[in-house]
Amino acid sequence: MKYCARCILPDTRPGIFLDEEGVCSGCRGHDDKERHIDWTARARAFDTVVAEAKARSSGYDCIVPVSGGKDSWYQVITCQEHGLKVLGVTWRTPGRTEIGQRNVERMVEQLGIDHIDFTINPDVERRFMIAAYERKGATAIPMHMALFAIPTRLAVQMRVPLVVWGENPQLEFGGDEADRLATELDLDWIAKHGVTNQTSREDWIGAEGLSDTDLAAYRLPPAEDFQAFAPKSIFLGSFFKWNSFDNARISGEHGFESGAGHLKTGVWSFADIDCHFIALHHFLKWYKFGILRSFDNLSVQIRYGLTSRDEAIETLREGGFQIPSDDIARFCAFVGKPESWFWEIAESFRDQTIWRRDGETWKIPGFLIDDWEWTTR
Ligand SMILES: [Zn+2]
Repeated sequence: MKYCARCILPDTRPGIFLDEEGVCSGCRGHDDKERHIDWTARARAFDTVVAEAKARSSGYDCIVPVSGGKDSWYQVITCQEHGLKVLGVTWRTPGRTEIGQRNVERMVEQLGIDHIDFTINPDVERRFMIAAYERKGATAIPMHMALFAIPTRLAVQMRVPLVVWGENPQLEFGGDEADRLATELDLDWIAKHGVTNQTSREDWIGAEGLSDTDLAAYRLPPAEDFQAFAPKSIFLGSFFKWNSFDNARISGEHGFESGAGHLKTGVWSFADIDCHFIALHHFLKWYKFGILRSFDNLSVQIRYGLTSRDEAIETLREGGFQIPSDDIARFCAFVGKPESWFWEIAESFRDQTIWRRDGETWKIPGFLIDDWEWTTR
């Protein structure tokens, strides 16, 4: 397990590759953003995207997939500033928080958009999450499948010519050079990067008794329909330089409520606040990749120049190992399983190529912090 020389991410994290200088693909993505991408040209290219959408529009110019979080507010605000008529589309998480609900309502009222709050039968969500967790150790496969499929399908079915997603994850969090410079999120992208552990909807038919029709909401539009209407599906972060802190500030100025005092995971009070279950998705990376959500947050802060690598390591050391106990309890109550079930499965996905057992304690040889307090978890 090797760590980036600039930030604190290890090469176990998906998408993170270290180059000959020991610098990771996430930090190289930041270099792309700061030095190699001509943002003036990209902004002009966005004007062209807007003009093409308006020329093809028969009502709504664009769909913006929104969770109600800071980034979705920023996406809607930016689209409206460019004169686009926005339809907001949300996959409604069964674990929506109170603050998440308030932010969705405020976004609709204060930004003045039409909005679809798409709710999947909670019993289907429940069974799908059980199957995804037991088979892949990934509670968020249903979430990722739904949040890519629903807006993409609605764009084709409702004949909306443009879909405006947020950041390009490969540019922000690490990926190879071609993926970092991609501007479009099409069906091929979803198949490759949709965070579904290389599974498609069809792979889950039969799991926990789920039928083809139970899983209707997760269906992508058929490729021939997508190609026939050909909605343009773009990352806003490929046209305007993405900055999570700026997005939080801009959204806050328009009425977005941050989660100060309600930190669920990581070190950012303005992120991961919409859903009670998202902390589990991040927590399981401890077993699989040996990282916590704070590693992601602090690495971005290092790249932005907001903290040094040494300070970030100190913040991690002080924070220590935190278990999202409340969210694990809520998740187990939702799926109707005991917490022992959650821990047994988490343990079965521990990557023993990076973890070593030392008595009752698990340790990672060569971990970023020498005097880390290891636990039985
Ligand atoms: Zn790095």
